[in-house]
Amino acid sequence: MQNSSIRIAIIGGGLAGATLANALIHIPHVDINVYESAPEFSERGAAVVLTSTAQRSLARAIPSARDILSKAGAVPMNSSRLLVGSGPEAGAVILDLGQNGDPNLVIHRASLLRELLSTLPKDVLHASKRLASIAPGKHGVIQVAFEDGSEGQFDAVIGADGIFGNVRKHVLGDNPEAYSASPAGFWDSRNLVPYEKAKAVLGEEYFAIDRQFGWVGDNAFIMHDILENRTMVQCIISAVENNPSKTDRKHPLTRESLNQTLGSWLDGPIAKGMIDLILDQEDPHGYSQWDHKSTPTYANGPVCIVGDAAHAMTPWQGFGAGMAIEDAMILGFLFRNSDKVDAVFKAFDEVRRPRCEQIIHSSRGTGDIICGVGKEVGLNLDKFRESLAPRWHIIDAIDYEAHEQEALSKLRLAS
Ligand SMILES: Cc1cc2nc3c(=O)[nH]c(=O)nc-3n(C[C@H](O)[C@H](O)[C@H](O)COP(=O)(O)OP(=O)(O)OC[C@H]3O[C@@H](n4cnc5c(N)ncnc54)[C@H](O)[C@@H]3O)c2cc1C
Repeated sequence: MQNSSIRIAIIGGGLAGATLANALIHIPHVDINVYESAPEFSERGAAVVLTSTAQRSLARAIPSARDILSKAGAVPMNSSRLLVGSGPEAGAVILDLGQNGDPNLVIHRASLLRELLSTLPKDVLHASKRLASIAPGKHGVIQVAFEDGSEGQFDAVIGADGIFGNVRKHVLGDNPEAYSASPAGFWDSRNLVPYEKAKAVLGEEYFAIDRQFGWVGDNAFIMHDILENRTMVQCIISAVENNPSKTDRKHPLTRESLNQTLGSWLDGPIAKGMIDLILDQEDPHGYSQWDHKSTPTYANGPVCIVGDAAHAMTPWQGFGAGMAIEDAMILGFLFRNSDKVDAVFKAFDEVRRPRCEQIIHSSRGTGDIICGVGKEVGLNLDKFRESLAPRWHIIDAIDYEAHEQEALSKLRLAS
């Protein structure tokens, strides 16, 4: 190992950047700084679900993970129940997910980010620092410039700057647009509603235990789950998007447009109430879901990308943050075993990219099935059961020790 520390700039202080910073901070030969473009480190959106698999990788990445989750107010969740939402079989249970292993945890995003950041020294966290450019400097050093005119010199740069991040463009070199995120074929709209109101509108039977309900059906999907100590309910309508705009990711929602989208659902148990709850907000909009269809590499010499910057996925299998945590686990493991930046990033790319690409495609395909447009599944109840149950297996069957050992073999070959 070299005597001086490896100076690493982490660009982006969302869940990926903050988790990675925790995974690297205690490695003696690594010196990290995190640069966030926003004036404050913050998370938008309501909840994130960490499956038992994501919890396992978090515990490997960060020894104090259990403490962080507990301080962030993580709440164990009963299984997610998938039911039919449209047509003659509306109300039939398809299956219950997440019954094996430890329960999933539901966590308020802002609380999780707050707790991840609270364990880091304040002087490594830099807000209002928007990356402007990355350029090779003298003696193998990377010159990083920020939009406020400041600059820094580093031995490595890790882009955790999200789905449209600049570091991705740098890593992909000549033709980054060819690999930009693009519409995945679905939109969704979310609203947070007071618990008692949701219970009154949707029906008491869905609130007897704390459980996430997903309603699967004709061209669309409806979900509701309980948050924040049973004070709020997250309500979601998603649907197939036939002609997505490549420029505008949001479109206004009206009662007419929702009645049209959910036409074959309106006689069922859930759609009418959910339309009322989604429209019960100022200026309701549907947001197009985008993902990365293919990415030729996650690393370019001493620069690499993690989290949504590398592999943004649709939310259908709920594992985007899970993949960012796995990235942190593997980079932490590799840096504990090496001080050779290029070799670490090459090994990281080789071991992580096949898994992440597989999950991105699986998630999009799961969206097709859940919205009733899966090939050879359609709206058939038995086929829903057969096709949906195994889809989480590719995510959950991973042996993390073997994943780390594979990364180590790649590291040795690259060193
Ligand atoms: C609706 C929805 C629900 C989801 N639910 C789940 C779930 O239940 N479970 C799960 O595992 N995953 C879930 N995901 C996925 C998960 O939220 C994301 O994968 C994860 O939050 C990505 O984190 P990130 O840090 O990579 O990106 P981001 O959260 O986008 O963070 C990127 C950060 O980089 C900063 N930044 C951007 N550009 C620059 C720049 N030039 N310079 C400096 N900083 C910059 C941004 O300000 C931001 O803070 C969901 C996603 C969506 C959209």
